[in-house]
Amino acid sequence: MIQNPIPWPNGARCAACLTFDMDADSLIHLDFPTSGHERVSAISWLRYGPTVAIPRIVETYRRLGIRQTFFVPAWCMEQYPDAVETILKDGNEIGHHSYIHENPVEQTRDDQAHWLDAGIDVHVRMTGRKPRGYRAPLYNFSASTLDLLLERGFAYDTSLMGDDIPYLLESRETGGRLVELPTHWGLDDWPQWVQTFDLDYKMPIRSPSSGFQIYAEEFEAAYRYGTLWVPVLHPFATGRLARWHVFSEFLEKAVARGDVWFAPMEEIAAHVKAVTDSGEYTPRLELLPQYTAPIGRALPRRR
Ligand SMILES: [Zn+2]
Repeated sequence: MIQNPIPWPNGARCAACLTFDMDADSLIHLDFPTSGHERVSAISWLRYGPTVAIPRIVETYRRLGIRQTFFVPAWCMEQYPDAVETILKDGNEIGHHSYIHENPVEQTRDDQAHWLDAGIDVHVRMTGRKPRGYRAPLYNFSASTLDLLLERGFAYDTSLMGDDIPYLLESRETGGRLVELPTHWGLDDWPQWVQTFDLDYKMPIRSPSSGFQIYAEEFEAAYRYGTLWVPVLHPFATGRLARWHVFSEFLEKAVARGDVWFAPMEEIAAHVKAVTDSGEYTPRLELLPQYTAPIGRALPRRR
């Protein structure tokens, strides 16, 4: 099933990292720049993330003896410094997740660079170091993103969906390479548990156990075939009481297996780099961007 399996440390069967994107109420202010502050109920729903869910999630990790990764827009870090402190206290990682959840695909390269740097400044000020990893808001990784990340010394990206195992992104412009730790929409919790009229996203909300089933099946495949399990979760969605109850019970059993490597993404990326540099492993390479010009313009119209 996997053509080029990657060796994991200490004989682990697979690598696992729950990634929580703590978007909080950035989404409301981005969609409603002049009236977002009036949407009190929506803000209360999203603020549940940093205020109630983050301490709960971090406490579970502490109890299980694991460290994981959180992606936080810089604006949210500044709004919720207590959540940042809680995440960092036990050695969890915070990765770059935009300034205020803006869309890089709709920005010029200069604008993208500006907000990327503004975010890095907040990370340095609040965490004492530059972020090692990046996840584009809503997976909106643009044609310039790889080069901007390479220029700034990032160690990995986790916005793309091109494989089941880590691979390398190579820049057409410079030949520079970056580790990609892929995930996919099937591991995102919005389709399971998010309904919001304010953000115009309406999915039938599933029960905690039926919504979780997708993660359990993805995990068993990762475990069986030695891949990477990277759920993309949100504290205001998966961090709600009943859902996190189901998740934490599962995590307890997964950790007890003893051969699953739970680690922050920066450590998984460092491992990929180490086995690549030593020649022990040769990851698949993907040249980015895939296309350098629009394809549709030269083609016949559909009708
Ligand atoms: Zn996000």
